[in-house]
Amino acid sequence: MTTTPRRAAGPVDVTASPQARWRTLPAGAVAIKGGIWAKRQAVNRASALPHGFRMLEQAGNFENLKLAAQDATEGYRGPVFMDSDVYKWIEAAALELARQPGADLEALIERAIDAIEPAQKPDGYLNSYYTVAEPGRRWIDFGHGHELYCAGHLFQAAVAHHRATGSDRLLNVARRFADHLDATFGPSKRKATPGHPEVETALVELYRQTGERRYLDLAGFLLDNRGYGWLGPSRRYGASAYFQDRVPIRESSEVEGHAVRALYLTAGVADVYLETGDQALLDALQRQFTDMVSRKLYITGGVGSRHLAEAFGKPYELPNELAYCETCAAIASIMWCWRMLLVTGEARFADLAERTLYNAVLSGVSLDGERYFYVNPLADNGEPEHLHRGGPSRKPWHNVACCPPNVMRLVASLGHYAATRDAGGLQIHQYGAARIAAELGVAGSVALRIESDYPWDGHVRIVVEEGSAGPWTLSLRIPSWCEDAAAHVNGQDLDEATVADGYLHIERTWAGGDVLELDLPMTPRLTEGHPWIESTRGCVAIERGPLVYCLEQADQQAPLYDLEIDPSAPLTASWQPDLLDGVTVVRGRGYRIDRSAWEGLLYRPFAAGAPSPKRPVDLTAIPVYAWANRGPNAMKIWLPLG
Ligand SMILES: [Zn+2]
Repeated sequence: MTTTPRRAAGPVDVTASPQARWRTLPAGAVAIKGGIWAKRQAVNRASALPHGFRMLEQAGNFENLKLAAQDATEGYRGPVFMDSDVYKWIEAAALELARQPGADLEALIERAIDAIEPAQKPDGYLNSYYTVAEPGRRWIDFGHGHELYCAGHLFQAAVAHHRATGSDRLLNVARRFADHLDATFGPSKRKATPGHPEVETALVELYRQTGERRYLDLAGFLLDNRGYGWLGPSRRYGASAYFQDRVPIRESSEVEGHAVRALYLTAGVADVYLETGDQALLDALQRQFTDMVSRKLYITGGVGSRHLAEAFGKPYELPNELAYCETCAAIASIMWCWRMLLVTGEARFADLAERTLYNAVLSGVSLDGERYFYVNPLADNGEPEHLHRGGPSRKPWHNVACCPPNVMRLVASLGHYAATRDAGGLQIHQYGAARIAAELGVAGSVALRIESDYPWDGHVRIVVEEGSAGPWTLSLRIPSWCEDAAAHVNGQDLDEATVADGYLHIERTWAGGDVLELDLPMTPRLTEGHPWIESTRGCVAIERGPLVYCLEQADQQAPLYDLEIDPSAPLTASWQPDLLDGVTVVRGRGYRIDRSAWEGLLYRPFAAGAPSPKRPVDLTAIPVYAWANRGPNAMKIWLPLG
């Protein structure tokens, strides 16, 4: 069959998905027009993407593919999944191209495809590692081989490239590989399931793009093989839980094991549900989500607390300095949340996506777009490089380079996550300066302009640029962090509004020039953690709007680890245009503890009622995403109460 460009936008297209309550918008429907995300997208385009291409060249990713094209059996460089970094970079570049065309970026993508295309074998197989480094060992090591993982990233890149350009060039490569998978694996063929999920969500998207049902069925087959220990124990980490292979999906109730694997998997399960309506899958996802948000989630939205196995910890096991919180795990969480939102229309999924986006993903990249955290701790003493993949400094690239291109693809596609539509209206999930245009069926085409300095200011002004003849419903997420939200249309109180599932729904015949004003007060607030979280006991964190704040050493008058916060002192917010590309800082009061009596001691006899002397100091907090942009620097999110 031939493929027809669907003019879909972004990485997910649920236009025809039977279980989607809300539908993704087509290409160009949302344009981010200013503020923090416009800045990040500009940096992504101008710096991060060209930087990423250079890093791939230096690391040998393209060379590996060229060796594979020549059937060479020596010279492979890097870990087994090097191809996936190329695919993720292409996906990011293609999503950016869809946002804003440009010959320079298009030429780089073509160069990358030039390396990929000849590396594909006549039977459709494509993997430089197993062609060059381990020839003859295809499809043997499902646990650690990452062949299906790499295939998944190829499919996503190909779909994004096709949607951006209309070109079938990479899509044809992807389809040949997908057909190879379909010819090899299935109920009456070979058994398979990947040690690193990813191909499931990708196969569903390839199905959405091509209409080829076999790809959806293959995704379901791979899911159904999980949970029986077939992958065997992880070579390094033992238990099948590492691979999410301990319990069948439909019986699962916990997020467990390697966090990126776990959440790419749940994203894929949600995709299969969106197409098939298998209720047992959705029930399992709801149970896993509840487990994650009620017991295994950092305040930043970061997940996967353990360095060991990059895994979810036990309930409430959420250390600060030793938080792993891989940037990719945060991105995977957003991928899952987005699909759950499309299924349910419940704001709690967009709430978590927002928290994760601002605090766990954005912290993963430097303000200049050219340095990346793999690990995102919630405290750091500023000592350089003290942890494998950790420490207080972002790096230009990583030996395992999954995170940088993952950030790039998310930033390029941010507009995708801002709004959706259904038969009766338009829903806005994320705020910021933007223009949204959509076709709403009977109501026809509508266009809105959103004016806002969100996340610095909670005033959101929505101007209807193009109205309609009949009524439709505009739905606005009321963030869960916000109390006392207020909305007015043309200066009038709302009579016709309802609130359901965390959204304010306003149905009326919107006319050009109508103005809706939404006020989401952003008073700085203190937050505490569950008493069973060891690392937050006796502490509070500062938050304002969707942002989590931290103290960074550079802004304090005393050593960071000597500071306490006075919870009774007022917190004030002020905009600092010249600090860290422009941030609102939050100032409070606290104490500097005199630690001189501890000189030379690590422990001492406890003396009740004899606290260390302390004196008042001012505290200045910055958004946690902006830390580590001024050299190695101590940082803390959770502050001891003084
Ligand atoms: Zn990563």
